[in-house]
Formats: sequence, C-alpha cells, structure tokens
Amino acid sequence: MDIRSHIQRFKERLGAAHLTVFLVAFPLAISLPTIKEPIAAPEITLWHSTVTQGNLTAIELNTDEGVFPTGGVFMERPFYFYKKDESYIALLGVGLSFVPGTNTMDIELQNEDGDKRKFFYMININEGTFKVSRITVPKKMVNPPKNSMKRIINEKEVLSDKLSSSQSEKLWEGEFITPTKGKVTSRFGVKRFLNGKPKSPHSGLDIKAVKGTPVYSSNSGVVSLVSNSYFTGNTIVIDHGLELFTVYAHLSKTKVKEGDKVKKGERIGSVGSTGRSTGPHLHWGVKVNGMNVNPESLRILSSLLEG
Ligand SMILES: [Zn+2]
Repeated sequence: MDIRSHIQRFKERLGAAHLTVFLVAFPLAISLPTIKEPIAAPEITLWHSTVTQGNLTAIELNTDEGVFPTGGVFMERPFYFYKKDESYIALLGVGLSFVPGTNTMDIELQNEDGDKRKFFYMININEGTFKVSRITVPKKMVNPPKNSMKRIINEKEVLSDKLSSSQSEKLWEGEFITPTKGKVTSRFGVKRFLNGKPKSPHSGLDIKAVKGTPVYSSNSGVVSLVSNSYFTGNTIVIDHGLELFTVYAHLSKTKVKEGDKVKKGERIGSVGSTGRSTGPHLHWGVKVNGMNVNPESLRILSSLLEG
C-alpha cells in the first residue's frame, strides 16, 4: 500500500470519527426530551377462593419503587388501598346481590411525577350457597305497622349516611375477634321466610347468649352510630376505617356513644333481645364498601389484616 492510500484511509477514519461525534453531540445540542418509561403493570394477588357472593376478599399489590395505587373500582364501587410492609392491600366486599360470572375491576397507579395509569382485570365471582330458614312469628312482626314506616325509613337513611363516610385511614389492628361468647344460631346469607313470606337474606351472624352477656368491639375504631332502631333494637356501628364497619344489634344495653374511640376487645354493650328478635342473641354484621359480608370471612383473611 502506497503513502496516498494510507492518507486516504486516515481521512476516512477521521471523517467517521467526526460523524460519530456529530451524532452524539446532536441530541445534546438541541436537548431532546427524555422518553419516560410508562408505569409498569403491578403484581397482583387476589384471594380467589373468597371471591364468592357475600364474602370479604382482598387484593395484595406490589409496584415498582416510587409508584403507588390511588384506588380502584369493582362493580362500580370505589375501593382503597393501605400499605402493609412493602405491599398495598385493598379489601373488597363481594355483595350477596353481585351476579356470579366475570366482571371487570380497574386499579389506578401513580408515580412520583404525578403520572397516572389504569390497569384492567377480569374477576370471576363465584355463586355462594346459603341455607333456607322458615320461621313463624306473631303476625305483627312480619310486616311493621303503618305508623312505624316513617321511623323505619328515617333509621335507614341515618344508617346509610353513617356508612357513607368512613375514616380515611386504617384503624383496625390485627385480626378481628368474635364479639361475644355463645352458640352461632344463624349464619350469614340465610334465605329467610317469615310466615311463608320471603324476606331479605340474613345480613350478619347470630350468636345466642343469655341476656347481659358482655359484647366487645371486634377491633379498634370509632363509634359512628348508637341507636334504638325498629328492626335491630339497640344498635352500635363501629367504623374501622377504609370503608370497613362492624354492626352489633339487639343489645340490651350500650356502653359507648357516637364519636368514642374504642380499642379491640373493649366492652361496648350487652346481649339482649331488643328490636325484631325472638330471643336474646347478638346479631353481628360486617360491611365493606357498603356491602354486607360474612363476618366469618374476616377470619379467613386474618393473616392479611394483621399489621
Ligand atoms: Zn341476625
């Protein structure tokens, strides 16, 4: 190879080098915007076995660092997450009225820059199995007298008002306890017929005990309602935060007032037979996202609810 060929190859290399520098320098010179990675899909664990009519179920969610869930919607009802260790947990009430089959759920994530992204999931709701109960009661107990209707409607409105505003933070600690000692006489979801007439399914768990047996708060929270209602008699509702409430009905006595903070296991009243009741028992109810759910499904999720 002669000297001219060497010079020519040197020039070519120099040209290539200049070109490389130009390409590197070009984006810096006009400072093109950096392309952001979209928010990645979260890792989701759904407690599939409990996605059954009338149950409480839960979602565990894990995201990239700096990304958090703002909430979600299931069956047109919003739900919220709380942080547990490095994960986020949301409780879902699967209503008795939810039609079995496939339904959509969406979850929204947000990053530190305020960018948001929604993710959609298909959730299968299983059909629950519930017993049928046929009981005979004095005729006046089947349909309330006309002069009680105004009172009943008013009580329903007050209850729904109380259940529509929950504390924005989780107030419960660890697992929920059964609020009184006694024998379970009627389970959640039982299809009831009074004197042959169909009534709404049983919205709680009945625990039979002698009048005066202590009733304890199933977990920590704030007392959101103390009332004497036509159907449920002396009733206490405790708000545990994040749309999770417990209900205690037919009490002979109440020992708390609205606004009181209560600790898990604190005595709140006594078993009785007030309201529409055929004998002393505690009717214990659990409401999540406005849905009545089986109090026994709280126990299934106890490991998740801890902490
Ligand atoms: Zn009951």
